Amino acid sequence: RAKAGGRNRFEFFASDLGTTATTIFTKTALMRQALEHDGFVLHYQPTVRLMDGCITGVEALIRLRQPDGQLMPPLEFIALAEETGLIVPIGRWVAHEACRQWKAWQAAGNLNLRMAFNLSAREFHDAACVRAIGDALKTHDVPGDQFMVEITESMMFPDPIRARALLEELRGMHIAVAIDDFGTGYSSLAHLRNLPADFLKIDQSFVAGIPADEKICGIVRTIMAMARGLNLQVIAEGVETDAQLQYLRELACDEVQGYLLARPLPAAEFAHWLEIRRARG
Ligand code: C2E
Ligand code: MG
Ligand code: MG
Ligand code: MG
Repeated sequence: RAKAGGRNRFEFFASDLGTTATTIFTKTALMRQALEHDGFVLHYQPTVRLMDGCITGVEALIRLRQPDGQLMPPLEFIALAEETGLIVPIGRWVAHEACRQWKAWQAAGNLNLRMAFNLSAREFHDAACVRAIGDALKTHDVPGDQFMVEITESMMFPDPIRARALLEELRGMHIAVAIDDFGTGYSSLAHLRNLPADFLKIDQSFVAGIPADEKICGIVRTIMAMARGLNLQVIAEGVETDAQLQYLRELACDEVQGYLLARPLPAAEFAHWLEIRRARG
């Protein structure tokens, strides 16, 4: 009780300072509580192979349950989680939950659903991060080759040598590596050449420009050619229209992900989506 009273007093004080302080305080408290009381949720968005329409897997995307039951999107709390260091335990939770869910789906007969999850910079540079992922796999007794980690270009710097070593470690566990939001960060081609990655995800800001924007189409074609040269498979993010899908098909893009196929869905809804889609053939 005393604790709760203290918190209310602080919130009152913080709101005198302005909404920013309140927001930071409230979100931090919410994240702490969520870690203790199961307040985070993963939603799952499928990826589909263009060649045969096969569902290759899902990307796990985190949400934070608010007191009113609404879910807060990651862009509203991940940066703060990084600043406060809470991203480390949050990331551990994500890895465990992703493994647990993969196992549950496998038990229900959904085999070979690749489970991708995101790592942010601070997690990636935490020395114990890779080990924690390995522990999650072991705890849930799931095979690494069914998992994929998504990192962004900017995480590879300022220390590309260390980044490379970490990625090699993940690969040693047979976990696939994807470069997320590709095209929005700084990438040196020299570093890309040496990067132990398997997939490149074209950022949705580029996908949004096809097929109408000629310059963007040029960039997308260039990224595709570069990915082939580097032996990386390409996933296009944020596919929302048939025209985009058609264009990507013509470029022989490997996989697509986006609202056109499915929004990120709670686990049960995703399983239902999968069932319907399979029934249709
Ligand atoms: P991301 O990894 O690039 O994920 C793709 C984002 O695009 C997701 O937003 C997804 O809901 C959204 N999206 C998918 N298809 C479409 C589409 O057709 N149109 C549009 N406009 N958007 C689409 P979300 O779930 O809000 O996640 C935002 C970002 O938060 C992610 O970007 C990722 O960087 C980060 N994030 C999500 N989950 C985690 C997590 O567990 N850990 C960490 N460290 N970061 C996460
Ligand atoms: Mg991602
Ligand atoms: Mg992305
Ligand atoms: Mg993104």
